[in-house]
Formats: sequence, structure tokens, C-alpha cells
Amino acid sequence: MFGDALLALAYPQACVICGRSVEQRRFGVACEWCWKETRIFTDDDEICLKCGSPGPPACGRCEVLAVTAARAVGVYKDALRESALMLKRRANVPRHVEQLLVAAALRKPLSLSTRVVPVPLHPKRLKTRGFNQASIIAETVSKPLELALDEVSLVRVSSPEKYRAGLDVKGRRDTVAGAFKVSHPKLVAGEDILLVDDVFTTGATVSACAEVLLAASAKSVFVLTLARA
Ligand SMILES: [Zn+2]
Ligand SMILES: [Zn+2]
Repeated sequence: MFGDALLALAYPQACVICGRSVEQRRFGVACEWCWKETRIFTDDDEICLKCGSPGPPACGRCEVLAVTAARAVGVYKDALRESALMLKRRANVPRHVEQLLVAAALRKPLSLSTRVVPVPLHPKRLKTRGFNQASIIAETVSKPLELALDEVSLVRVSSPEKYRAGLDVKGRRDTVAGAFKVSHPKLVAGEDILLVDDVFTTGATVSACAEVLLAASAKSVFVLTLARA
């Protein structure tokens, strides 16, 4: 903890990837050079229009997902991976990462969003970790996007002990099914939700959230993540 505090104050610091110095705080844990090497999606990328995976407009693997559309800043590698890992330890989104997130949220169809909702942590887990990294991202983007931040409507009800690493898509889906509920349906009804999380892996978690949000009459559920694995 003390080490992290020092790290947050001392710039230039060493890039966690290549060891060169990170000259500007805005780049966070990676240097400008490593950011240039990091795959960031642009308008020119061919992606699945629903889940955002690189490739053809319909990937053929995401039909089961309840989300309207999902987009990530880029691939879970290099500077994005390191930034996502750091965000689990420190409740701060560096300026460069914020700008990348906002740029991704301003592209269609996510630009239709009317309300920002983070993927919640179970209260028990929140207590041990101290903060929810999805909430930190949601807070960060809601201001520049001028959208309402809603941290109360969606809650996690299943116990955190149920999480298991290394499960396949179906296993993960079973694990998160019924894990979420909407506690304030009036707040999400008719809204285009921008559901925010740190990393998109199988999509099972955001899909479980989308199911309950749509059941509570949300118009659509768009997903924004920092990276996709
Ligand atoms: Zn570097
Ligand atoms: Zn897809």
C-alpha cells in the first residue's frame, strides 16, 4: 500500500513494461512508447458489431450474450493490461486512459447511452478490496460524457465465494446467472444503459447484468470495458 502511494507521487517512474521512464503522469504505469505499441481499436478496425471482437461483423460466438453491443478500448495486452491490473490496486484512472475510454464511448452505438452503470461487486468483496474498479471507470467517464452515474440500480446478490477461475463460457454463465438484480427498476426503465467493467473476457458477467437490466425495461444495454481478453 505504501509502495503504491509512493508510485503515485513519483514521476518520472519506470515503465512497468520496458523500464524506460514514464515522463508524464497522464500515461499511468506505461511509457508513451509502450502505449504506441498497444492495440487500441479505431473506426478502421473490423469488429463484430455486437460483441466488438476483432474480425467479421458477426463473429458467430456472441449470440448467447444478452448485451445490445459491447466495445472495448483495445486488446488486453501491453499498456492496457498493465493499466487494468493497476486499477485493481489503485482507485485512479490516468488521464490518457480516461481519454481512450471516452473516445470509445463516443462511437456508435455506445454514443446513444443515457445512463452509466458499473458492474457491481458483492458488498463483502467491496469491503475487502476497498473499492470497485468498475465504479472508478464509470465515475471517470460519466463526467466528460455528461451522463448520470447510477451506482444504486444494479446490485450483486450472489456470494463472492462462488467465483472460480478457469471456467469456460458455460461454467462462467452458470456461476453468474442470478448473481445480479435491479433494485431500482424505475431508474433504468426506458434508458440506454452504458454498463461499465474493467475487462471483457467471455462476456458472461456483463450478459448476466444485461439480462436483469433489460427485464427491468432498460431500452438497451451497451457495454464499455477498458480491454477485451
Ligand atoms: Zn515502456
Ligand atoms: Zn460477436
